[in-house]
Formats: sequence, C-alpha cells, structure tokens
Amino acid sequence: MQYDLHCHTTASDGRLSPDELADAVELLELDLFSLTDHDTIDGYLALKQAGRLGVVKQWVSGIEFSCVALKQTIHIVGLDFDETKPAFIQALKEQAGRRLQRGEVIHQRLLKEGLPDVYKEALAFAGSAESLGRPHFARALVDAGACATEQRAFDRWLGNGKIGDVKLHWPELAEVVSWINDAGGVAVLAHPLRYKMTFSKLRQLIDLFDKAGGEGVEVVGQQAAADKLKHLVRTVKAHNLAASGGSDFHDPNWHWAPLGRVNALPDELDPIWSRFKRTVVAG
Ligand code: AMP
Ligand code: MN
Ligand code: MN
Ligand code: MN
Repeated sequence: MQYDLHCHTTASDGRLSPDELADAVELLELDLFSLTDHDTIDGYLALKQAGRLGVVKQWVSGIEFSCVALKQTIHIVGLDFDETKPAFIQALKEQAGRRLQRGEVIHQRLLKEGLPDVYKEALAFAGSAESLGRPHFARALVDAGACATEQRAFDRWLGNGKIGDVKLHWPELAEVVSWINDAGGVAVLAHPLRYKMTFSKLRQLIDLFDKAGGEGVEVVGQQAAADKLKHLVRTVKAHNLAASGGSDFHDPNWHWAPLGRVNALPDELDPIWSRFKRTVVAG
C-alpha cells in the first residue's frame, strides 16, 4: 500500500501550487492520497474541479485543522469528509476568519519585539489574510534580514511557546473533531511526537482526543526515537485508535519530508482507511 495522508500546497504554507502537487503525485503512482492544507480545502477543491484527483488510485478529501488542547496548539487532520455539508463550510469560514485575526496579532507582537514590519510581505507569500500563517512571517523575516533562516525565525519568535505562537484564536480540540465527524470524516491526531510533551501529557492528549470522537493517530512520518514510537503505538492500541501516516510535505527542497515516501503502518494497528465511513479502500 503506497500512501500519503498529510501534505501541503500554496493554499496554505506549502511551496507547490495544487497543480504542481498533482503533477508530482502523479509520478509516484500512489494507492491512496490526501492533501491536508492548514484550515483550508481550497487546493483540494481546485484539483477536484479541474478533474485531477485521478492521478492516484484513491484521493480522499483532507485538511489539517488548528486547535488548542492542554494549552498548546494542536493539529488535527480530517480525512474522507463530505466537504459540501453546510456546517462544515461554515466551520471553514470561521477558521479563515480566526486565521485573519491571528495574523494581525502576530504582526503586532513581532513589531513590539522590535522586528521590521513584514506584514505586507508575509501576506504576499500567503496569498490572502485568511491563509496567513507563521511560515509566511518566517519567510518575510528572512527576506527582511531579521534572521538567516526560517528555522531561526521559528526558534526565536514563532515556534511553540514563543511570542508569535498566537493560539488564543483557535477552537478547542473537541469542536474541531466534531466538525470532521459531523461531515462523515475521520479525525486524526497529527504528529503527536512533535508537540514536545512529556509522555504523561501526551497520554492525556490522546485520551482527550479519543473521548472527543477521534479515530486515528499519525504514527508514521515523523522522525522519532524507536522507544518513543513504541510507547506511542502501545498507547494508540490501548485506546483502540487506528494508525495513520503522512509525509507532511511542504517543499521539494526539504529533503527530510519527501512527498509520498511514507513507511508502512505498524501491523498491530488498524490502518486509518479501514475506519473510513465513505470511501472503501482495498488492501
Ligand atoms: P501556523 O499554521 O501559522 O500555526 O503555522 C504552523 C506551521 O508552521 C507548521 O505546519 C509548520 O509548517 C511550521 N512550524 C511550526 N512550528 C515550527 C518550528 N518550530 N520550526 C519550523 N517550522 C515550524
Ligand atoms: Mn505547515
Ligand atoms: Mn502540523
Ligand atoms: Mn502539516
């Protein structure tokens, strides 16, 4: 089973346009694929309308929602939902509004920090205020000479817990999971080992996610020490949650996250596609 259930385009903070992504995906001959831009399905909709979803055996709808849980920004991937449901469309609208407001707060906070005003440039990278994110500010700060690399901008100002990590606008995790479930999709906790939580806090998060109606956890795709991964798989199994995986592809120059190169899911867990309610995936 060749699959990738987590990646980005210029509709959020990726470097390839949806069309360029579809070209790249086509060469990989994947069985199952989903484009999961941050808080938007515009890229997916554009490809669907252009009739380009046939570049893989099965392409399911996808998104990566931002939310908060345990006072941290958490990402929830939604897969195989019906994007035409009015409540889901309304949720997307709200999320876009939150992103717009948050972008203004990030802008103010960076200015207060004495950094150059890069709001316009960040907006230009994002394409719209509704899709503006921290990576666009990072790129603009590098261009303005405030720091040498985007990673450095995250380390100093934009990363988890830093001044530009504005999370007050995001909804609670349970709300986001119900948006996905109500649209017939499955909710997946994204890259759990990237939150830098202690294991007891991570167990709390998985517990909360499970109770909210979450269906799966990304166990493949993130670089992780073997012992941590083993512990994670055990926790996921104990909750009877399924396993998902994805490259989290953003940029062809990021050699550590190539598109479509995702290891097999662990045998002891159900694959997330076995829990899809709408699309039947063979294998
Ligand atoms: P946002 O959607 O504005 O919250 O930005 C989140 C995105 O920023 C993530 O999906 C990553 O692409 C990137 N990101 C978040 N934290 C870091 C970090 N510490 N280092 C590098 N990139 C990061
Ligand atoms: Mn991203
Ligand atoms: Mn993420
Ligand atoms: Mn992502």
